Formats: sequence, C-alpha cells, structure tokens
Amino acid sequence: MKNTLVLFCLCISLFACQKNTKQNKLILVEEIQEEPTKPAATEIWEPKPSIVSVEGANKIPSDAIVLFNGNNFNEWTSSADSTAVNWILNSDKSMSVKDKTGDIQTKKNFGSVQLHLEWRSSKEIRANGQNRSNSGVFLQNRYEVQILDNNNNDTYVNGQVGSVYKQAIPLVKASSETGNWNSYDIIYHAPNFDAKGNVSKKATITVLHNGVLIQDHFTIIGTTEYIGWPKNNAHGKAPIKLQDHGDKSGVSYRNIWIREL
Ligand code: MG
Repeated sequence: MKNTLVLFCLCISLFACQKNTKQNKLILVEEIQEEPTKPAATEIWEPKPSIVSVEGANKIPSDAIVLFNGNNFNEWTSSADSTAVNWILNSDKSMSVKDKTGDIQTKKNFGSVQLHLEWRSSKEIRANGQNRSNSGVFLQNRYEVQILDNNNNDTYVNGQVGSVYKQAIPLVKASSETGNWNSYDIIYHAPNFDAKGNVSKKATITVLHNGVLIQDHFTIIGTTEYIGWPKNNAHGKAPIKLQDHGDKSGVSYRNIWIREL
C-alpha cells in the first residue's frame, strides 16, 4: 500500500513537471515568434507630431498662448470682482504686484498645462519670513507653487520658494540673487473627478526653477490651504492665478506663456 502511494505521488509530480515544461516552452515559442527580426517591424510612422518652432528672444513656442508679454493686461482680470487689473505695467515689459489690489487671474480657464513664467523678488528687503516678496502661481486657481525671497531668509520649508504650498518641500533651492529674474517651468496634470464628485485621479506637478528640477511629478494632495487640510472638491478647468500677498511684496512678472496639454 505504501509503495503504491509513493508511485502515485511520483506520477503526479512528473505530470505536473511535464505540464510546466510544456507551458514554458509555449511561452518561449510565443516570445520567439513575436520577436521582430527586421527594423521596420518596430517602426511607427503615423501620426506625425505637429511642428512647433521656438523663436524670438523670449523663446516662446509657436503653439503657446501668450498670457503676458509686457504690453497690456488683456489676458488678465482681478480675481476678487472680475474688474480690470490694477497691478503696475512697467516699461521693461514686466508687471509688478500693486500692494493690496488683490490677486489677478487669467480670463481663460485651463486644465492640464505647460506653463512658463518669470518672476523677480523686490531688490529692497522690507520684511522677513513669509512676508518677504511673497507671491505665488496657482494652477486651476487652487494649487499654489510658492514664490518667495528665501535668500538668507528662512521659513517653514514646505512653504519656501518652489514648494507646493504646505505639501511638497522643493528638492533644492535654485533661486537667483534677490532682485534678479527667476523662471518657473511647470508641467501640470489636472485632477479627475468621478460622477459623484470624488477625486478619481489626483493632480500631478513637475516644476523647474531656473532650469533645475525642484518638484518631480509630485501628486498634489488637494487645495493648498494656509490654514487647514487640503480639500478635494470637484472642479473643471479654471484660471491661472497670481497672488498679491498684501505685504508690499514688490514681486514682478514677465514673459508668461502656456500650452494646453
Ligand atoms: Mg504665496
């Protein structure tokens, strides 16, 4: 009886082993059959990417929407009441925050975008911490990438220059000298919401500060609140907003363009 049992187990093992070997062979054959043998088998020719040229001193892509080129505020409106922008238009093709006139935002609404902007802190140092040249760019009117003069000016690091405010510390601080121009290049993918209004895919953001990676595909938790936890109320396309922090920030902006993704 004992010998019969051992023989039975051996047969079962052999059968299983043979079956596995056969399966492995099949997979291997499939892989061999699918492996291309000519270069053309892995070439794709359509659709052709559309052509974008990048010309001029400001290197603006030909398919970008120019949001600010120094000539006017045509693309912008006051966030508080949708009236005309009261910020200062400078002779050097930049604009400056006019203290306590409020945030400004684009007239157009945007979802996922590539955004380029240049900003400059005030040369004059008037305050410390969060009150030294504080502004910010808000994606979809609710997710802030911080703008701040942090040169010899410490603050909480999840609120320093280049942070996703109170959510993501920048990988490095890549600021220009106080009073000199900085650039932000932002790749932002908007969140999705389901039919019930719950977030089904959170927003992500990548930021280059003066060409240096400071936010690497960070998943935005929710709205960037000054007080309280991030919120995730459903929303659609929304404006880009620039902040008047209300403390004589003296922050200026120039050369702002955007590409919808
Ligand atoms: Mg700010």
